[in-house]
Amino acid sequence: MQHLPFFLKLRDKPCLVVGGGNIAARKASRLVEGGMRLTVVAPTFSARMHALAKSSSLKLIERAFIDDDIEGMVVVVAATDQHDTNRHIAELCQARGLFVNVADDAARGNLLFPSLIKRDPIHIAISAGGTAPLLSRLLRAHLEGCIPTAYAKLAELISDFRKQVKERYPAIIEQRKFWDAVLRGRIADAVFAGRHDAARAELAALLKDDKRAGRFGEVYLVGAGPGDPDLLTIKALRLMQQADVVVYDRLVSDQIYQLLRDDVEKIYAGKGPSQHAMSQNQINQLLVDLAHQGKKVLRLKGGDPFVFGRGGEEIATLLDEGIPFQVVPGITAALGCAAYSGIPLTHRDYAQSCIFVTGHRQDGTVNLDWELLARPSQTLVFYMGLLGLEEICKALIKHGMSAQTMVALIMRGTLADQKVLVGNLSNIADLVTTENIKPPTLVIVGEVVKLYSKLQWYQTQRYFHAER
Ligand code: SAH
Repeated sequence: MQHLPFFLKLRDKPCLVVGGGNIAARKASRLVEGGMRLTVVAPTFSARMHALAKSSSLKLIERAFIDDDIEGMVVVVAATDQHDTNRHIAELCQARGLFVNVADDAARGNLLFPSLIKRDPIHIAISAGGTAPLLSRLLRAHLEGCIPTAYAKLAELISDFRKQVKERYPAIIEQRKFWDAVLRGRIADAVFAGRHDAARAELAALLKDDKRAGRFGEVYLVGAGPGDPDLLTIKALRLMQQADVVVYDRLVSDQIYQLLRDDVEKIYAGKGPSQHAMSQNQINQLLVDLAHQGKKVLRLKGGDPFVFGRGGEEIATLLDEGIPFQVVPGITAALGCAAYSGIPLTHRDYAQSCIFVTGHRQDGTVNLDWELLARPSQTLVFYMGLLGLEEICKALIKHGMSAQTMVALIMRGTLADQKVLVGNLSNIADLVTTENIKPPTLVIVGEVVKLYSKLQWYQTQRYFHAER
């Protein structure tokens, strides 16, 4: 390890920034934030440095650097626009055993400014060892998104209850168990959701009755989106990381599955067009049983749980049993497939509305309101429409739609091997067999499909396209 990460208390310690530009100002503001007694030496100062001086107690000295300036300093930053000056300052400081940061040549110094994520009192510092600051900034942006801003509030809650928890559970291992239940469960979630009073009340109750900790089960009904893991919501990803057990279905992509923790228990609940690993009743009961064991149960479903996902039935059972749950929406297949195939679902010239409909066959037929579906100026999106496609196309034509109306099939939408097949109501069903289209496939019917040839942008390995 080239650099040793530390968090140092340097409040009121003297430090020096040499340089008056924007980079110097940025570093100066970090030092001021840390409460250091800062002096800045430079022949001229940028507006930003002047502004900083106005809002803090830093001292500006308007002249060129002289060697004596480092006298008595704990930390020095060399941030002038003169490479040689910076180098000279670095050498001086290193010879005296001072900590020095060199803005234009990190390797000359012995101190780095990390990228910081601030959730006071929590700080996460990221460093790429001075070699790739852009990378650490990128990582920072990434982490910023994953860490709820309310972490600060959570830290406050812990701090307020720490003493009581210690008294209640003298053994460290017991304390850990207690906090684990708090931090990975409903109490933390209540904080993140801005329900601070509820979180406090629940924590106080939990402290009084330790038996409740074991019964702290909860179900997260989470939409995993259509497949591309980048389309997960931040909340989905967070809950995926904290669950004890995951009940997932067939539509959850491999890439998303890979994001689950190795040590989490994973239960496949299946459900294909014709095969069911578990019946819906069995799934509902499984969620209840797991939650009763005190587990955080992640029910992970493809797309959105409330769009052809039977999520409503699952939470109805939980409600009956008094099990707490939360629902996290996901990007439904229609939206994911539309975006990744370049087919807008509405368009001023072609469609003023859009209907999501299930093409699932019951007793061998598709029973739908064909009169309504065959109307002009709307886009139809059929979920589970592959098996009944021929029947769907025939019914639409029979109810007045032109046989030339365009149809797009999007197979494994948003994934790297997405396929798009374009045809019309009269030929698409035949193309399915010749082009080897398999589930999961979404069917889009309407004039908007015309836009595909112009707007398609997502290149895939096995991309192909059959025009009418
Ligand atoms: N709750 C899910 C839909 C479940 S129904 C959602 O909101 O997306 C299952 C149907 O969704 C499949 O038959 C298929 O029509 C569609 N589907 C789901 N994921 C898909 C994908 N990645 N590409 C194409 N179609 C998909």
